[in-house]
Amino acid sequence: MLKFTLSEFKEGVRVPVAGEYDPKQIEVEFPDLHYVAPVRLEGFAEKTAGTFRFEGTLTTRARKTCGRCLKEMESGFSEDFDWIYETENRETIDPADNVRELLIIDHELAYLCQENCKGLCPVCGKNLNENTCKCRQSSYHSFPVIKKLKPKKES
Ligand SMILES: [Zn+2]
Ligand SMILES: [Zn+2]
Repeated sequence: MLKFTLSEFKEGVRVPVAGEYDPKQIEVEFPDLHYVAPVRLEGFAEKTAGTFRFEGTLTTRARKTCGRCLKEMESGFSEDFDWIYETENRETIDPADNVRELLIIDHELAYLCQENCKGLCPVCGKNLNENTCKCRQSSYHSFPVIKKLKPKKES
């Protein structure tokens, strides 16, 4: 966890700072999003009269689950930040809320392993990106295709 004690900073002096968060401690995980690395913050902090500025880069690694076929994907996450805090009547600065916000904003409603992920067969449960199954021919999914073909005969 990162917590800045304001009295330890000299006014007008930019200092390098770095720290890590355990994703479980700051509650940024979702059923389809788990972190496989600590949330690392690296940058510079500077205290001025009335404000405290913390700017740098947040990096971590996440495992996401495709919303259609349930395939798991792992990818890196890196985002720059520039946070400015009012320091009046405060002794410490805790950026945890900003960290949470930055990570949650990035959380999409549903991840897809690929733009046209075919998902799972609703009948047999096979991953249709990797397999074809016989159920598809008889499923209702094929009806729109038949409809599309009919008008062609008339022209
Ligand atoms: Zn998928
Ligand atoms: Zn099937």
